[in-house]
Amino acid sequence: MPKSSAQRALVVGAGIAGLTTAWWLERAGWEVLVVEKAPSFRAGGYMIDFFGPGHEVARRMGLLPALEARMAPISAVTSVDSRGRKRAEISAEAYEAVADGGISLLRGDLADVIRADLRSPIRYGATISVSDFDDFDLVVGADGVHSKVRELVFGPSSRFVRYLGHHTAAFSFNDAELSARIGYRYQMLTVPHRMIGCYAVRDGAMAALMLYRADSQALPVDARAALRERFGDLGWVTPELLSVVPEEIYYDEVSQVDMPVWHRGKVVLVGDACGAVSLFAGHGASLAMTGAFVLAEELAASTDGAFERYQARMKPVVLDTQSFGRKFIGWMAPPSAWRITVRDMAFRLSGLPVVRKLIRGSVTPAVPAGIVG
Ligand SMILES: Cc1cc2nc3c(=O)[nH]c(=O)nc-3n(C[C@H](O)[C@H](O)[C@H](O)COP(=O)(O)OP(=O)(O)OC[C@H]3O[C@@H](n4cnc5c(N)ncnc54)[C@H](O)[C@@H]3O)c2cc1C
Repeated sequence: MPKSSAQRALVVGAGIAGLTTAWWLERAGWEVLVVEKAPSFRAGGYMIDFFGPGHEVARRMGLLPALEARMAPISAVTSVDSRGRKRAEISAEAYEAVADGGISLLRGDLADVIRADLRSPIRYGATISVSDFDDFDLVVGADGVHSKVRELVFGPSSRFVRYLGHHTAAFSFNDAELSARIGYRYQMLTVPHRMIGCYAVRDGAMAALMLYRADSQALPVDARAALRERFGDLGWVTPELLSVVPEEIYYDEVSQVDMPVWHRGKVVLVGDACGAVSLFAGHGASLAMTGAFVLAEELAASTDGAFERYQARMKPVVLDTQSFGRKFIGWMAPPSAWRITVRDMAFRLSGLPVVRKLIRGSVTPAVPAGIVG
């Protein structure tokens, strides 16, 4: 792949990985076209804790001021009972220690900030086929866990997707009264195999997250009905949340993607498409940005062997984070009342420095800061 001023890159997917890849490639002189399946930009979504190497990549892109302006000031994580009474809480200090200088913000806000700084065109409502690749020197599949590029080039998803036994849903909505009542703390009600949580985002906006154990990987035809069926018996603010679930929500199986090789010919995968770590691990957005940065950096160094060097730098980190994520399932979706009690006990003791250190070790995978170079 010799690089000249006429080199053209097709980036499939305008999520965190795709937008970041496009940002770095265009700065390196590539002519970039981004294609996105959704009919328009996907705003809102779920809250992410954004720290680690992705945060460093965002700093290098000069985006931290814009990201901090959208930050949700989440100050604590509170476990509540079915009447909304506090069972346990991670203290503000412990939460800050875990966040380690990172920020909490909506996934859509992170994407929007990157998009606002991008010059390349984004074509929405696009479908792709292998013949679309002909016009490009480089094709980047940044189209998420259910990647179409991966399927077209490497084969069926079933070969690479590892189902983690849960479904999840997330959405945001406006409700000034509920927002004031819940406040800027992540409050959650956990019963065995099910968790429902919400938090104020800003200006009366709220975000909600639901997670439950599901033996079948298959997604329901009607996500809203499935959520009503799964969570309809729970108390606290659950009825209010179920009554505002929008038609367009994020609903998916919780999975990881594990594949031996991330590239073939001029096609390379980035982000969740090749290395989804799942919401149990967190860090997916951070790793998506890191992967995009490392890929662009290796391409800029030399296009010969760039994909191999990119994978060699990123894959060990992705595998470690995935392994961490699998161990974290029992923290986020405890399978028994006893496990919920143990987790809440750790929350209660989080004011103690030694427990804080333990929590930090258990909720944050060890992603080497040097990965960004
Ligand atoms: C509930 C939840 C909570 C999370 N919390 C955190 C967290 O705290 N911290 C963190 O760092 N990460 C978190 N993550 C993970 C993180 O959001 C993802 O890992 C990250 O967004 C992956 O980015 P991506 O760009 O690779 O994929 P995606 O965000 O999935 O983007 C893929 C894009 O490609 C588009 N697309 C799909 N198919 C096609 C096609 N055929 N043609 C064109 N476009 C297509 C999609 O519409 C989408 O816009 C969380 C995830 C979930 C679900």
